[in-house]
Amino acid sequence: MKDCFLQGLTDTHAHLMMLSEIDDEKAACLSELAESEFGFILDIGTDPPDLGMRIEKLKHLSNVRFAGGIWPHKEAVEAPLKKVAVLESQLNAAPRELLAAIGECGYDRRENPSAPAGETELLECQLELARRFKLPIIIHSRDAPHETIETLSRFPDVRGVIHCFSYGTDELKQFLSLDYFISFAGNLTYKNAANLREAVAIVPSERLLLETDCPFLAPTPFRGKTCRPEMIVETYKTAAALRNTNREELKIIVAENAKTLFPQAILS
Ligand SMILES: [Zn+2]
Repeated sequence: MKDCFLQGLTDTHAHLMMLSEIDDEKAACLSELAESEFGFILDIGTDPPDLGMRIEKLKHLSNVRFAGGIWPHKEAVEAPLKKVAVLESQLNAAPRELLAAIGECGYDRRENPSAPAGETELLECQLELARRFKLPIIIHSRDAPHETIETLSRFPDVRGVIHCFSYGTDELKQFLSLDYFISFAGNLTYKNAANLREAVAIVPSERLLLETDCPFLAPTPFRGKTCRPEMIVETYKTAAALRNTNREELKIIVAENAKTLFPQAILS
């Protein structure tokens, strides 16, 4: 059954290739969705050379744009410059009109509990690339608010988004004061996410984004399943209720914000 609410809807953080790799049925459904209903989906990179491969496989989807980046995997953190060189060549080769951002990149204290220096170096190099390519940056930050704020504050001319925001209102205010957009994923709908619900209620309208992070973090009532872009409707509903608005209005706000941050975004 089709839901008209999906028309023109925005998902600013999806891993479509990961989703399509799960099985053929999901891949087919994804193509249909992306072609017919969604307004804009930003497909996110984690490890070069995925950028070129994703563009090749998904460029026929007219409402999908691409980000290229290096997630702070252990092996990337151990040899940041090697990875960054690959990313840079991928960015240079990508069609400029399809390239909307650098990322995702940042800090992950579960992957890197000892906070190795290479993690900061990897992020700094990508902030440099964002500056050089004049593209926004997509920040992943798990259990590392202080180092994230510290590093981002050294690049005041780079704009971006804190994706899958996971902190509280104090950190929220600091990211907002750095002029970052704040994006909420499906975990906003989880029972134990009081901090996220409090945060989403107070983000200024002109800084709010929503995402699936699919195939991860399926919102309630799909929690535990493979997350697909259309499930983002639940996240819109929850965020709209918490902000005392309706989901149609929120759809417009998020679409406008996506366009502001990612000028390559196509809106229907
Ligand atoms: Zn992601």
